[in-house]
Order: sequence, then C-alpha cells, then structure tokens
Amino acid sequence: MSFSRVAIVGLGLLGGSTGLAVREMLPGMATSGWDADPATRQRAAERGLVERVCETAAEAVEGADLVILCVPVGAMGEAARAILPGLAEGVTVSDVGSSKQTVARVLAEALPGIAVIPAHPVAGTERSGPDAGFASLFRNRWCIVTPPADADPVRVAALCAFWEGLGAKVETMDAAHHDLVLAVTSHLPHLIAYTIVGTADDLEGVTQSEVIKYSAGGFRDFTRIAASDPTMWRDVFLSNKDAVLEMLQRFSEDLTALQRAIRVGDGQALFEQFTRTRDIRRSIIEEGQDDARPDFGRSDHGGSA
Ligand code: NAP
Repeated sequence: MSFSRVAIVGLGLLGGSTGLAVREMLPGMATSGWDADPATRQRAAERGLVERVCETAAEAVEGADLVILCVPVGAMGEAARAILPGLAEGVTVSDVGSSKQTVARVLAEALPGIAVIPAHPVAGTERSGPDAGFASLFRNRWCIVTPPADADPVRVAALCAFWEGLGAKVETMDAAHHDLVLAVTSHLPHLIAYTIVGTADDLEGVTQSEVIKYSAGGFRDFTRIAASDPTMWRDVFLSNKDAVLEMLQRFSEDLTALQRAIRVGDGQALFEQFTRTRDIRRSIIEEGQDDARPDFGRSDHGGSA
C-alpha cells in the first residue's frame, strides 16, 4: 500500500513544508489543502504550497487517501470535525501535532470508524504561517509515528514510507513515551527559554537596550526559541501537562542542586556537570542533529521543535 493523494489541513509552517516537500520529493502524489484563514489560503495558492487550495475542508479531503492535520494541537478536534463530511472510504488520517496522547484521544473521538495514525515530525523553526514553510524541513530529521494499539500495520508502514519519502528518519513509539521524551527534549527547553527571556525583560536596573546589546553572551540563543508561536506552545503545554510537570519538577531539583553548589563554592560539582553537558552537545553534532558552526548553521533556516 502507498498513498497517492494527500490533503493537508492547516497551511502554516508544517502544512506548507509538507506540501512543498511532497511536490518536490514525491511528484507522483496529488496534493490539496485548506486552511481556516482565507488570507492563508490565498498566500498558500500564490506560493503553490499544494496543487489545489480549496475553499472548504470537505472539498480539500475529497478523494484523498491520506489526510494530514497541520493545525495547532488545540484546534485538532475542530479540524477533524470539519473534514469528516468529505472523507473518502478507506482514508488514513494523520497529524503533525507536538503532543500525542491528547491528540490521539481527540481525533479518535471526532473521527469514529476512521483509521487514525498520529505522527510528529520533530522538525520546525520559530517561524509560523504560510510564508514560513520550505521543502527541506524534514530532511535528516526524525518523524515519530505513534500508532494506536489496534492500528493496521500496513497503513502504519505506508505512513512511515510517506515521511521517509520526504527525507525524514522514522521511528514508531507509544504516544505516552513520545510525550515524556518530547517533554524533556522540546517542551521543557521552550518553557525555560520563555522564562529566561521574560525574566530579562522584567529586570529593573538593566535596560532593554543593554539586554539586546550584550545578548551574544548566551541570551540570544534563548530568544530564538522564545520567539516560537504563542498559540502552538500554549496548546503544547496544556495538552502535555502531566509529562511537562513531571520534567519541570526534576529540573527544579537539579537547578536547586546547582544553586547550592554555587552558594557553597563546590567548583568540582559545577565542573563535572558542565563537562557532562558538553559531551551531550558533541553527541548531537555527531548524530547530524545540529551544526558545529558558531551560528548553529542557522543563517539559512531554523532549528527544531
Ligand atoms: P502555523 O504555522 O501557525 O500553522 C497552523 C495553521 O493552521 C495556521 O495557518 C492556522 O490559521 C491554521 N488553523 C488553525 N486552526 C485551524 C482549523 N481549525 N482548521 C484549519 N486551519 C486551522 O503552525 P505550525 O508551526 O505549522 O504548527 C502546526 C502543528 O505542527 C502544531 O500542532 C504543532 O504542534 C506542530 N509542530 C510544530 C512545529 C514547529 O516547530 N512549529 C514542529 C513540529 C510540529 P491561523 O493562524 O489563522 O490560526
């Protein structure tokens, strides 16, 4: 089994990148799409994010054998209800949402009797909207597929092959495990970045212009993450609440330990911790998941989420 017609709902960064990647890398596959925002639909048509930008969700998914929901996690239910009247017999519905347990539950409720296989390409940037997408976004990035226990293995294999066709490396895992892993690798770092940038912004006695002028001391690397889309990230934290709170608790304990090491002058503890973290950075570069250049090689495109 392989898919021949994909419909993309939500034509922002992820939806637009998926459409462009299919058009470039799987040219035999027909693409259609819809977005709730008329201005986004117009821009998507101008940029050719998909071959056919439709006026309704039902029209976009008509005849599609794969539908991918690329809307914020909190809008998945609404998007699923909008496509339901147009879904073809035998269709597979997937998504790209950054948290998986909540999305799986919401989609199963909204689409009874439809084959739903959630997924999360761990690739993105701090940009959003129909101008943000680019075809190479998924190349050499991981896409995590989280099939429900009763999923048809043939459809799961077809979905994995679809993402591999767009240049991604694919792994399947349980949705609960996905949410725990991503809470550490993505959600918590975003929360920390949002906090640090907010704290610097609130500081009295340090002016805004000084914060910006001396940002190369580390602050600016947090600002890239903290510039990420507020709607998307609000929804991620609300939908992956338990795993994020668990990781936040551990993080607070580790931070307290470092705080203590500084207070009591335990240089050895600080040195050991910083050596350990440097090794992790090396492993990420060796795995090809980031660039060793000082600007992280991001002068062209962005990072990941
Ligand atoms: P985005 O650029 O803001 O695109 C989302 C698009 O969906 C927007 O055009 C939005 O329109 C539209 N939309 C909202 N509600 C809708 C609905 N009910 N029906 C149809 N369209 C709707 O966001 P994104 O970064 O592509 O994120 C999309 C999904 O990808 C999210 O679930 C996110 O968790 C996931 N993801 C994001 C990243 C990342 O780095 N950004 C990485 C991996 C996965 P309006 O702007 O008018 O609301």
